[in-house]
Amino acid sequence: MSIIRCLRTYRLPDRPSLIWLELETSDGLVGLGETFRGAVSVETCLHDELAPWLLGRDARHIEGISRHLLTPYVGYNGSGVEVRSASAVDIALWDLAGQRQGVPIHEALGGAARESVPVYNTCAGYAYNSTGKRRDIGNEDKPQGPYDDQVAFMHDAGELARSLLDEGYKAMKIWPFDIYAPKSGGHLISLPDLEKGLEPFRKIREAVGNRIEVMCELHSLFGGHSALRICQALEDYNVFWVEDPLCKMDDHVALADLRRRTRVPVCGSETLGGLRPFRDLLANDALDVVMLDLAWCGGFSEGRKIAALAQAYNRPLAPHDCTGPVTLMAGLQMALHAPTAIYQEVVRATLATWYRDIVTDLPVIREGMAQPTVAAGLGTRLKDSFKQQPGLIVRESR
Ligand SMILES: [Mg+2]
Repeated sequence: MSIIRCLRTYRLPDRPSLIWLELETSDGLVGLGETFRGAVSVETCLHDELAPWLLGRDARHIEGISRHLLTPYVGYNGSGVEVRSASAVDIALWDLAGQRQGVPIHEALGGAARESVPVYNTCAGYAYNSTGKRRDIGNEDKPQGPYDDQVAFMHDAGELARSLLDEGYKAMKIWPFDIYAPKSGGHLISLPDLEKGLEPFRKIREAVGNRIEVMCELHSLFGGHSALRICQALEDYNVFWVEDPLCKMDDHVALADLRRRTRVPVCGSETLGGLRPFRDLLANDALDVVMLDLAWCGGFSEGRKIAALAQAYNRPLAPHDCTGPVTLMAGLQMALHAPTAIYQEVVRATLATWYRDIVTDLPVIREGMAQPTVAAGLGTRLKDSFKQQPGLIVRESR
C-alpha cells in the first residue's frame, strides 16, 4: 500500500504564478508536482477541494485518481484551476510511481524512444513569465544579464542567433509581433508594424543563414486576418512553426482555414488543456505540431494520451516550458518517451538562474540535446535551501 498521508504546497510571493506540491505516502515516499498561473487559486483548490478526497487513497491508483480529478461537475474543460490542480497531483503521483519502482518516469511510461531530446531556446529573459505579468520590450529596455534574450531578439536577433549557436542551441523561439497586437485587439496589423516584426527574422537569416531553426510565437493575440497576414509574411523566412496564431486556439474552424491559406506550419496549444481539444484540432486539420504542457493538461496520465493522439495523426509533439523547473523535468520525461516528440522547450536564462535555486537537478544539455535522466521518478526534488527560504508560504493538509 502507498497511502497518501499529506499534501503540502509551497509558493513564493515574488513568483505568484508558481506553486509546488509534495505528496507524502505511507511507504515513506515524497512525490513532487508543480503548476503555473494563479498559485493562490490552485492552493485553495488543492487543499479545500482535492485534499479531502485524496488523503487516505492509494497513490498507486494513478489512472483512477486522474479520471476523478479531471472530471469534476464543473471546471473539467480547458486548463482552469481544477485542471491545473489535478495536473500537479498527477505529476507527483507519477514521481511516486517511478520512485517506488526505482525507474525514471520515461521508463515507467514504457521506455525511451530516443537517446536524447533536441531542445530549442525560448528567448525569454530571467523573469519573463513567473512574476505574473508578461514583459513587453521597448527600445529603451536594457539587458539585465548575458541571457536577457528577449531584449536581445528585439534589438539584435542576428547576434543572439550567433550566441545560441556558440552554445550548441540549434533552434530558437521569438515573439516580435506581440507588441503590435493591443492597439487593434489583434485584428489589424499595419504594413509598417509587419515590417518591424519581420526584422528579427531577417537579421537571423542574414547573420547565420539556415544554421538555426526559428519558431515564431504569437501567444493567441491575433484575429484571423492579422494572423494570416503575419503567417504569409513569414513564409519567406523558413520558420519552423508559428505558435498559437489565433485568439482563441479552440476555434478549429478558423484555425483550419488559416492553415489552408499559409505555408508555415501551425503549432498549438499548451493553453487548451486535455485530450479532447487536441482531438478536435487534429481531426479538423488545424494543427501541424502538438504543444502540450503537463502542468496544464492533466499531467502524465492525460499527456501520454495526447502524445498517442499526436502519433495517430502523424504529428510531432513538443512539450512546453517557460513556466517552472518541475514542469520542465516532466516535459523531458515525456519527450524522451513520446513516439513523435521532436523538441523540449527550454529557457537558458531561467535554467542558468532561478530554476537552480528551487530544485536539485535540471536537464543536462549538451550540444543542444537534453540528456536522459537516470534517477528514479522525475529525477529532481525541491532543494532544502528553497524550503528554508524566508517568505515561503507553506500549507499542509493531513
Ligand atoms: Mg506558447
